[in-house]
Amino acid sequence: MATETAPQEFTFQAEISQLLHLLSHSLYQNREIAIRELVSNASDALDKFRHISLTQKEHEDDAKLTISIEPDEENRILTIRDNGIGMTHDELIQNLGTIAHSGSLEYLKKLGAGAKEDVSLIGQFGVGFYSAFMLADRVEVLTRSYQEDTGWRWESDGSGQFTIEPAEGLERGSQVRLHLKEELTEYTQPVRLKHILTEYSTFVPYAIRLGEEHVNDQTPIWVEPKSQVTDEQYKNFYGYLSKRTHEEPLWHLHLTSDSPFQFHAILYCPASNFELMGFGKDEHGLSLCAKRILVQNNCRELLPEYLRFIYGLVDSADLPLNVSRQALQDDTVFRKIRKVLVKKVFNHLEGVAKDSPDDYRTFYEQFGSTLREGVASDFENRDTIAKLLRFRSSHGDDRAALISLGDYVSRMPGGQKQIFYVGGETVASIEKNPNLEAFRSRNLEVLYLVDPVDEFVLNHVHQFEDKDLISIDSSDVDLPELESTSDSEEGDQSKAEQAGPPAGFETLLNLFREALGETVEDVRESKRLTDSACCLVNPEGAMSAQLQKVLSRASDDFQLTKRILEINPSHPLVKHLAGLSSNDEHKAFIKNCGQQFFANAMLAEGVIPDPHETSQRMMGFMQELAQQRSPIAGA
Ligand code: ADP
Repeated sequence: MATETAPQEFTFQAEISQLLHLLSHSLYQNREIAIRELVSNASDALDKFRHISLTQKEHEDDAKLTISIEPDEENRILTIRDNGIGMTHDELIQNLGTIAHSGSLEYLKKLGAGAKEDVSLIGQFGVGFYSAFMLADRVEVLTRSYQEDTGWRWESDGSGQFTIEPAEGLERGSQVRLHLKEELTEYTQPVRLKHILTEYSTFVPYAIRLGEEHVNDQTPIWVEPKSQVTDEQYKNFYGYLSKRTHEEPLWHLHLTSDSPFQFHAILYCPASNFELMGFGKDEHGLSLCAKRILVQNNCRELLPEYLRFIYGLVDSADLPLNVSRQALQDDTVFRKIRKVLVKKVFNHLEGVAKDSPDDYRTFYEQFGSTLREGVASDFENRDTIAKLLRFRSSHGDDRAALISLGDYVSRMPGGQKQIFYVGGETVASIEKNPNLEAFRSRNLEVLYLVDPVDEFVLNHVHQFEDKDLISIDSSDVDLPELESTSDSEEGDQSKAEQAGPPAGFETLLNLFREALGETVEDVRESKRLTDSACCLVNPEGAMSAQLQKVLSRASDDFQLTKRILEINPSHPLVKHLAGLSSNDEHKAFIKNCGQQFFANAMLAEGVIPDPHETSQRMMGFMQELAQQRSPIAGA
């Protein structure tokens, strides 16, 4: 005896109610993308079922996997039907009642009204299904999971609730029935529907039927010769793979090979990096086909993780069709294809860098940070990636210019053995670093690393064309001798330098050492400073100051390496203090100065010394100066 049960009522997660409101009230200019989203969901459901039917014996099924689009003009209903995996009762609640991605709503809200193009991004945020409410004021989903004998009917008018009740007589798969809004009868017109399907869904790897017609039966573009594929087709295929129909890709690569193994591939680099906007491309990877049949979506193993921004499709007749991910990764042909793809991507990037520097810059600004990860993770390609890195530098007048390590090496003067770099928050703050003086006076180029990650990266690169990469505050820096010019002024100065430090300089250094004690590794004479009185350098083999700063922020346990305080013997103040140092009466004053030298050197690097101690000392100095002055004018 069948019992009549009332449909169960559910309330949408609050975010969905807001999203639905947004979709039906402001983001409606590009309504037809809803069809693409529903067809894409149907295609995903077919992918999932095919995978199951290939890997689980009990679900083997020979029936053709298809998507059908069924317009019913009389009743103003458009149905999108698939024979994919379907959904269980609980899956309906989970999948069509909650938002998986918490940031999606915020992002869509920002788009606001009039965002004709950007609403097409909706599929990227895992909320594509809800675009159905841009076309319909009531949506039914009739579905039966491959795991169950009974089906379900889900229904909502998009106002906050949905209902679920059992449904009899359903085939495996889902039907999304759109009860079209009154003014949208056009969506039951075959001509209109065919136009939309050819625009958005040509590349869906399953037959799409509109009535009796098979609407996507062209040869896939990746097996066509390059010369026969139009720009429009490339762009549309990119839109299909990436769901970014509003955006042209930065570049594409169409690859074909017949031996030693056969494959076709099209790879795309997007124009913008979603990760930078806070959206991880977490479903990254390429589509993998064997003889035009999709084997795996989001196949992450075809390219290394650090090239995850690339979209594309790879089709090979030499790949096994139904094997597990693991077995696929171990397949020799698969591994060789991967190798070829990586190589081609690098070749292409090198070409762009050489022939169109502006495009390369755009690429690097968007994806440089992702690419750089490869330096640490892909030893085999480290040198290749190193060539593709870009940095700011002290060379020339354009502080925004980006240069490569190759540019740097090509400009290196004969005697220079190392590649120098310095890290800092901004170019402006880096340029105030006293450590740079020695490099400036010797006309040596220094790379400016404004992104802390770059220091990690260069640490990993370690050497470029046999030249060590080294931070300018390291004791390992090998500075060429300053060339003495015969010009009178500079000549005099360098003679003075050659004459050695002023009398009392050693005593001065000893007093500074006493004052600073364990706070520093040592206090010593500087060979690198020309203008500043002092600076801090790192003992041999230690990490650069910037890198230590970053690491100490990341972990409380990180122990900073003690620094060496270097004193410039030709600085007027230092000379003066050296002169005073033989008189014991000035000992306390000189020691105070030592403390302040250290504090100043820290400040020059953007590090704050103990504020209380430092300001007390400054007060002391002012006090002393004030006491030497008389209140009477001229006295
Ligand atoms: P996304 O597809 O990006 O995950 P959607 O909002 O479009 O986001 O769909 C939500 C979920 O609903 C899907 O992940 C899928 O699990 C399920 N779903 C949607 N359409 C179908 C369908 N035709 N068959 C089976 N499951 C579906």
